[in-house]
Amino acid sequence: MEKRQHIREPDWFREDEKGWKCLLCPRGCYFATNSSSLGQCRIRGLKEGKPYLPGYGECVSLVVDPIEKKPLYHFLPGSGVLSTGPAGCNLTCDFCQNWSISQNSGVPTRYVSAADLAQMSMTGNSIGIAFTYTEPTIWYEYITDSAPLVREKGGAIVMVSNGEINLDPLLQIIEVTDAWNVDLKAWSDDFYRRHCAGNRDTVLQTIKTLAGSQCHLEITFLIIPEENDDPAEWREMAQWISGECGADTVLHISRYFPRYKLRRQPTPIETLLQAREVFSKELHYVYIGNVLNEKSDTLCPSCGTLCIERSDWKVNTNGMIEGKCASCGHSLNVVHEIG
Ligand code: SF4
Repeated sequence: MEKRQHIREPDWFREDEKGWKCLLCPRGCYFATNSSSLGQCRIRGLKEGKPYLPGYGECVSLVVDPIEKKPLYHFLPGSGVLSTGPAGCNLTCDFCQNWSISQNSGVPTRYVSAADLAQMSMTGNSIGIAFTYTEPTIWYEYITDSAPLVREKGGAIVMVSNGEINLDPLLQIIEVTDAWNVDLKAWSDDFYRRHCAGNRDTVLQTIKTLAGSQCHLEITFLIIPEENDDPAEWREMAQWISGECGADTVLHISRYFPRYKLRRQPTPIETLLQAREVFSKELHYVYIGNVLNEKSDTLCPSCGTLCIERSDWKVNTNGMIEGKCASCGHSLNVVHEIG
């Protein structure tokens, strides 16, 4: 194992006469000259007047997950992927489903160098690396260091993100990544401000940019009772996704459970079914997640053939040939091989 080193020069910090500003995400943390403090994400900060990366390579977990768990249903279906993430986040969602690692200080981590991560990413049945669990874009330097090494070994790079990253760093990180799942937490900007201290328009910009890139894109929408469950807003969201990203964009509607500070009842199944109906009017691939025994198969939008069958993380792709319906040849917006 390589020696731990936090000395890597951070990107996306700009100095002015009073201090340093981090330009990576819209939060725009500012650090006064000669101070020592961490940014909101706790992964980046200033130490003795110099930008530094205390979270560089510090991994909260390292485990091979089914890629469907990310969730990515149309990217190398049935694969495993080594999954890891940093101990922090640039948002403060009061309903965070992973709050114990995203919002807590002192989370135990393990340092893994970029080279070691690349090596580990291609062992077992893993097809590469997924940066997930918390918010990976705040790990910009670690990802841009390790991703090219993973690619050299023939692996793929997956990002599971809240989409709160400024455009310039996004355009650069896109170049070294292959597939993204981005949360669209609500259609209303007010929701983003009240629950997450976030900015919806940045997320929309990220989604739109990814849709126009070479990366595969899927979107996740966690429905929280009484907070983002208005069908009129769903309709607007569905039309925006379809119009800006295309009707073949994959959408995961996810069930909320009470976690962290927000204490609502779990999303009723009927609400999820209703949402699927609304979104399916605009989008071809809409799945319900976080619900036991809910079918999440892929049917051909053209002829209705069962192309991909999913059950308990087991995946059967017998109804698909090279990303197309085995019956009628319709393209399913599935990435079936790396590169
Ligand atoms: S990435 Fe972290 S340090 Fe930079 S602006 Fe965002 S929250 Fe602040």
